Amino acid sequence: MPIYEFECEGCGAVFEELVAAGAAMPCPECGSERTRRLMSTVSPPGRMPRGAGVRSDESRRGEREAARQDRLSESRKRRAAGEKP
Ligand SMILES: [Zn+2]
Repeated sequence: MPIYEFECEGCGAVFEELVAAGAAMPCPECGSERTRRLMSTVSPPGRMPRGAGVRSDESRRGEREAARQDRLSESRKRRAAGEKP
C-alpha cells in the first residue's frame, strides 16, 4: 500500500497515511474530513524521476518538505505528550 500525503483544508496540517487509492483520511489535528491528497508521494532519496522541469519541482519540494517535517515533528511531540485523539 502506498503512503499518501494529505493536507487538511481546515487547519492546514499535512500528514502521511498508508491508505488504499481513493481513500480519504480525516485530519489528525482537527478531525476535519476536508483533506486532500497531495500529488507528491514519498520516494526514497536518490531515486529522483528524470525529466524536464524536475529540478525546479524538486527544489520547491525541498522547502515544502522542510515545512512538513516541522509540522510532523510537532504533532508527534503533541502525541507523545499524551494528547488524546
Ligand atoms: Zn485539520
